[in-house]
Amino acid sequence: MQGKKILVTGGTGQVARPVAEALAADNEVWCLGRFTDPTARKKLEESGAHTFIWDMATDDLEGLPRDFTHVLHSAVHRGDRRDFEDTARINAAGTARLMTHCSAAEAFLYVSSGVVYNRADGTHRYREGDPLGGAAPWLPTYPVAKLSAEGVVRGLAEARALPSVIARLNIAYGPYGHGGVPMILFNEMREGKPCAVPREGQNYCNLLHTDDVVRQVPLLWEAARTPARVVNWGGDEEVGITDLLEYMSALTGVPVRLDRNDFSRETAIFDHSLRRDLIGDCTIGWKAGIARTMAELFEEYRERIHDYADGRQIMLDSDRG
Ligand code: NDP
Repeated sequence: MQGKKILVTGGTGQVARPVAEALAADNEVWCLGRFTDPTARKKLEESGAHTFIWDMATDDLEGLPRDFTHVLHSAVHRGDRRDFEDTARINAAGTARLMTHCSAAEAFLYVSSGVVYNRADGTHRYREGDPLGGAAPWLPTYPVAKLSAEGVVRGLAEARALPSVIARLNIAYGPYGHGGVPMILFNEMREGKPCAVPREGQNYCNLLHTDDVVRQVPLLWEAARTPARVVNWGGDEEVGITDLLEYMSALTGVPVRLDRNDFSRETAIFDHSLRRDLIGDCTIGWKAGIARTMAELFEEYRERIHDYADGRQIMLDSDRG
């Protein structure tokens, strides 16, 4: 993408920061947020992006230009398990302010989540038309955050004739921020904590590397339309969480303690038909992507990870592992 004027929320976050930094090379990029992480703000500005302080809970967008061509809305207030009212209001009102302010844009992309789906059994491949409702015992306010904002996107896409796409993200990971769920799990392994997994079988997900996120955002903008289009957004492969934990252990030598019990953090797998039709396949295989991410984030294991990858012909520097 070149020569566009792009607005990004959540630009300090794990998902949108690499996108903002990459797009800033050839476009005018503005990142909005509270900038609770000053290092991330500095990096964004060094990449050429403008930054603009905005708390979506309270602030209007006075003083911000209106002539954006593309919007990536990735900010989220996930809530603290109890503040359902605040969570619904903050995400809905923030999204409404943003869409109203940028209603002349060519495309609006809202980053939603698979957490909006009503839970089916662990092997179900969720399709876009599946029952909604969400359930996240680890953070019950989170599905409310995403469903509230999805409603606003649908509403304003039509009321303002703003072409929009709601991309329901699976698990994104890569060498930004905390690195995503896989790196959070790895840090728990390093601390010697047990990893909760189901008594039988595994939890599965579609890991999506940030390189694919960066490449696919402009493709998703091309898919925006009115009424808003909804699409699942995850990696091609179905990855077992237990397999992931064991792989990270093999890469680094850090032991994994599997705690097989009745409660583990459930993940989801998607049906990819629509995503494939709209934006095609992913390019980063999960084994290479995880090894690359870990080698980048954890210097102390870098040599061992490279030796392991070389021995198994996992190509860390190529596009497909
Ligand atoms: P992070 O937790 O890494 O970042 C959250 C972002 O939201 C930060 O940039 C933060 O900016 C911004 N934010 C939070 N509260 C406010 C506020 N009140 N006003 C303005 N900005 C705010 O999130 P991720 O990057 O992991 O997630 C990005 C999006 O993707 C979210 O919408 C999330 O629901 C969705 N998603 C993510 C998945 C993942 O695997 N990471 C999986 C599925 C969906 P600041 O603190 O500077 O204000």
